[in-house]
Amino acid sequence: MNLAIQSLKQGPPKISYMSELSLSDRVISSEPSSTVRIADKAKLLREAGHEVYDFSAGRAFEHTPSYVVDAALQAMSAGDTHQTMAQGTTKYRKACANKLLRENGIEANPETEIVATMGCKQGLTISLLTLLNPGDEVIIEDPCFVSYKQTIQYLGGVSVSVPLFAKNNFRWESEQLEEVITEKTRAIIMCTPHNPTGVVHSREDLEEVAEVAIKHNLTVITDEPYERMTWGGRKHVNLATLPGMAERTITLMSLTKSFSMGGWRIGFAYASSNKIEQMTKLQQHLITCVNSFVQAGAIVAFGQPPRDEVLDFWQQWEKKVVHFTNSLDQIAGLKCYVPEGGFYGWVDISELNVSSGKFCDQLLEDESVALVPGASFGRHGENFVRVTCVKSWDEINEGLKRISEFVQRF
Ligand code: GLU
Repeated sequence: MNLAIQSLKQGPPKISYMSELSLSDRVISSEPSSTVRIADKAKLLREAGHEVYDFSAGRAFEHTPSYVVDAALQAMSAGDTHQTMAQGTTKYRKACANKLLRENGIEANPETEIVATMGCKQGLTISLLTLLNPGDEVIIEDPCFVSYKQTIQYLGGVSVSVPLFAKNNFRWESEQLEEVITEKTRAIIMCTPHNPTGVVHSREDLEEVAEVAIKHNLTVITDEPYERMTWGGRKHVNLATLPGMAERTITLMSLTKSFSMGGWRIGFAYASSNKIEQMTKLQQHLITCVNSFVQAGAIVAFGQPPRDEVLDFWQQWEKKVVHFTNSLDQIAGLKCYVPEGGFYGWVDISELNVSSGKFCDQLLEDESVALVPGASFGRHGENFVRVTCVKSWDEINEGLKRISEFVQRF
């Protein structure tokens, strides 16, 4: 077997030496991020001259729109290279508030209700740090984004998974939530549009969660990096806009996906002022501030309606998502519906009688195609694999051909 591909399958090397005794149990016992690990290894393989069709991490083919890059470059040239306020610049927070009002119908006070974050992931960390005491429980979806469980563990919390079933269209029922709530439950994490299933939660879905959160005095963290990517004319609904929920929701948004700005690491959290005050204190200690010129670029992305080149991205992405998922569904042995939002295909491989890990390992080895095993997203992801659909048309067509040939051999 190709040694480079073998290393991609194995995960990080196991280092064993005396100093391990002084390492943190919380960290040692955690799993690596399969999305980031697979994408990193795919990059290494490509750098070493190997051919890899990488549909693993959620990274689009397009580069950041040039008008956003120009705004950051201008800021840097003009000397905007120093630390900003820990909460983010006044202009950046105003741009975020403008976006929330313009697109989400949310009236946020930029002085007290918004903090700049390094993407939604870092927003999640400071949200959980703000909410959790050691031993507190956080309800998460299964399947869900690979970093929720580990981040909760790093912070001394306990994650409690509630399964999402295909027969319920991957939506929670409030009874399922009620069943797992204890006196230690502090928060719920939700993602909409959902990674990895592609569900866009309707107002009714969110009302069920809101009712439970209000009844049990819980905070809900809504992870919304895909909120501008809803397909088939669907509309994103913000949990924070439901009655009684503004006070008990932390809304996380970013430009990572929608503006192809993953490398910039930029986003924000919107929450009540008492939470933002604590989250700002955390930013002071943990990162000082989000990069100054990155905020300057993001101001034009959040502060103005998206320009034509961004609208073009989104149109292209819907076409790619529909084409990729419909084509996968036509391969005998696979089932895949068109996601309601986001850019992942969530492919049911149960007819093939193979584990998701084995399927992905073998596909990589035989066809040089990288996907993410569904089991990485939770126990209930096991019969699925995740495909990022927003690559170049050439990659999509070649990837489809290779996946089809591979599945035919089962
Ligand atoms: N969030 C993306 C994914 O699910 C990117 C990977 C990551 O940052 O964890 O693939």
